[in-house]
Order: sequence, then structure tokens, then C-alpha cells
Amino acid sequence: MQGVVSVNGTITAADAAVVPVFDHGFLFGEGVYETLRTYGRVPFLFSDHMARLRRSAGMIALPVPWTDADLLVDVEKTMAACGGGDLYIRILVTRGIGDLSYHPTATPAPTLVIITKPLPGFPETTFTEGIRVALVAVRRNHPDALNPQIKSNNLLNNAMAMQEAIRLGADEALMRNQAGCVVECSQSNFFAVTNGVLRTPPLTDGLLPGITRQFVIGLATELGIRVDEGPLLPVEAQGADEAFITGTTREITPVTRIDDAPVGDGRPSTIMSELRQEFRDRTSIFPAS
Ligand code: PMP
Repeated sequence: MQGVVSVNGTITAADAAVVPVFDHGFLFGEGVYETLRTYGRVPFLFSDHMARLRRSAGMIALPVPWTDADLLVDVEKTMAACGGGDLYIRILVTRGIGDLSYHPTATPAPTLVIITKPLPGFPETTFTEGIRVALVAVRRNHPDALNPQIKSNNLLNNAMAMQEAIRLGADEALMRNQAGCVVECSQSNFFAVTNGVLRTPPLTDGLLPGITRQFVIGLATELGIRVDEGPLLPVEAQGADEAFITGTTREITPVTRIDDAPVGDGRPSTIMSELRQEFRDRTSIFPAS
């Protein structure tokens, strides 16, 4: 394992970082997290990520007793110990250490973990050729059971979807909700383009409000591309002219196959490339590392 980790302010090499067994993050998956990345060693869209962290925590009644400024100080200290170029950053808050009980009073203080490591690289073909997604049988959690808007450390739903995609030889898992509409992927949001209109499922259909999704919707609007946030059927995704996924580490990645069928002409195409160029222009304004 590469990288440097802070556990409640104690910074160690990734291999040496430990959280006690009685941490409810480990026992019950009770906690929330954010994944960020840096451009030019500056954490990108930091305040948007912190706002989502607080929304997630609020939805599971988990206190976050640190200000954004406190969290940034801890992130920067961990980053400084990590060195290198641009970094992957994961901030996790768990319910903390306590006896085997769901009662919130069992855990007097939350645990804060910050993981920093070199950014995972994707082969350039990911962007030039696009990726293949599999429409998996595992459905996205129903919002009334475990709301996908909570960016929870409990990632069993996502992991099971991705395991299915891997068995099917795909790079990502495309998930549906209980109504059968496409919602999002195991680790990214999904967009389709039909007749020049950018289509993406609405948050009310049950998906994570991706920071990159929102950023891309903003870019599209500025570029005069019409955005339609409405329910998306699998057949509409399969019949789209273009498709792509968005995520902090994947940025904007073209999807050129859904299962065995090509999307459009099976090549990354116009609107996706225009958005991707704009995205790259916006992120390259940060000083080089
Ligand atoms: N959906 C899911 C289920 C995810 O895990 C992620 C990655 N965090 C995303 C969407 C993309 O979100 P973001 O753009 O904030 O990284």
C-alpha cells in the first residue's frame, strides 16, 4: 500500500495506519466519506466536497465537529507527508469507538481518517477508446432503505455491482433503481447524449449527487448544451448517440459499449469531447506540481 494516512491527527505510512476493532465504522459500516483529488496539489472543489460530507453525515445523525478550515489543515498536513505530485485524498468520518450497540451514546467521539496517495492512473486508451459498462442485475439501494445520496462507508451495494461487472468483463457497473430506470454506476454518475441533449437521471431516482456530475452540468449549461435531468430507461441509454461517466478520479470518461453493443458509432464523440476539453482547461489553471 502506498501513501500516508492520518488517524485522528496521527500521521503514519499507509501500511502502519490502524483503526481499533471496536470502531463502529468497522463493526457496522457506520460512517461517511469523500474522495477528492488535487490538481497542482490543490484539492479540487474542496468546499463542495465538505458540504456533501456534512449532508451525508446529517442523514445518519453523525456529528462532524470540525470546521472546513480544520479539515483542510489536517488534509494539508497529511498531503505534505505524502510528497510526490497530484494526490488522491479520501476523508472518512466514522461513528467512533464504542461497545457493540447501535445507541449513539455508545460512541463518545467520531473517528477522522485522511488517506492520501498517488493518483491512480488510467491508461490513455480509457479516454481515446472509451470503456465498456455492464448493465448489472444488482439494483441500486432504494432511497427508503439506504439512500444513495448518503456517501456511506458501507459500500456493499456498490461492491456487489462492481463484482458482477468484473465477472462480465466490463470496466464499470451500470445500475438501475427498483423502477427499472438507469440511475448511476458503482463509482460514477452516468450521462447519455441524444440529439444533442445531455441526459442524466435526476437525484430523486436514487443516486449519489456527484460533485463532478454537478460541475459537468454547469459546464454544459455554460457551453449552451441543453441538459435534461429526467428518468432514463436502459433502452434509451443503449440507443444514445454518446455516453460517458463522471467522477472525481475518472473525470469525464467516454462509455463506448454497454454490454456487447456499441454506443452510437462506438467511438468517443462530439459533445463528450467538447465537455472533456473544457474540463481539462478549467483544471489546468491550477499551478503545476
Ligand atoms: N456515484 C457513486 C456511487 C460514486 O461512488 C461516485 C464516486 N464518489 C460518484 C457517483 C461520482 O461522484 P464524484 O463526482 O463526487 O466523485
